[in-house]
Amino acid sequence: MKCNKVMERYCSLDAGENVPLGVRVHLFRCPRCSREAQLLDQELLRVKDTFPFQMEHDASDAIMRHVYLSPVRYSRHVSSFKWMITGIILFAGMMLLPFSQSLSWLNNFYGEKFLFPLHLIMGVMISIYAVIMVGSNLEELKSYVDDKLDKYL
Ligand SMILES: [Zn+2]
Repeated sequence: MKCNKVMERYCSLDAGENVPLGVRVHLFRCPRCSREAQLLDQELLRVKDTFPFQMEHDASDAIMRHVYLSPVRYSRHVSSFKWMITGIILFAGMMLLPFSQSLSWLNNFYGEKFLFPLHLIMGVMISIYAVIMVGSNLEELKSYVDDKLDKYL
């Protein structure tokens, strides 16, 4: 192991962390690195009892208050316009399905048996769409309903 790698590894050790065997062997054999390590240890001991990083006032309360009161949202928000476009496409697809060639081809191939599961799947899709849309825009819907109720009450 080269001297600069040994000293780099020695300096990266945390306080109280054991010195790796390869570094110890090098420090034992190399007087220059051994002397540097001794000087480093002495300096760290000398600085240890002084508190050069002590802050004059504690800023943690102000920082945490700012973090709690920040209006940053950590969830992704999909706009109402995108929800409406998606809903229109979904409903238009369902309304245009009886006129598609795929439906007539499936009807010829499977008969009338697949219509019930098809309508069941479309109903489930609409329900899932509605639940996700309402769940993701709950605050906007609540404020909208509250505004409407305030007008009538
Ligand atoms: Zn060395």
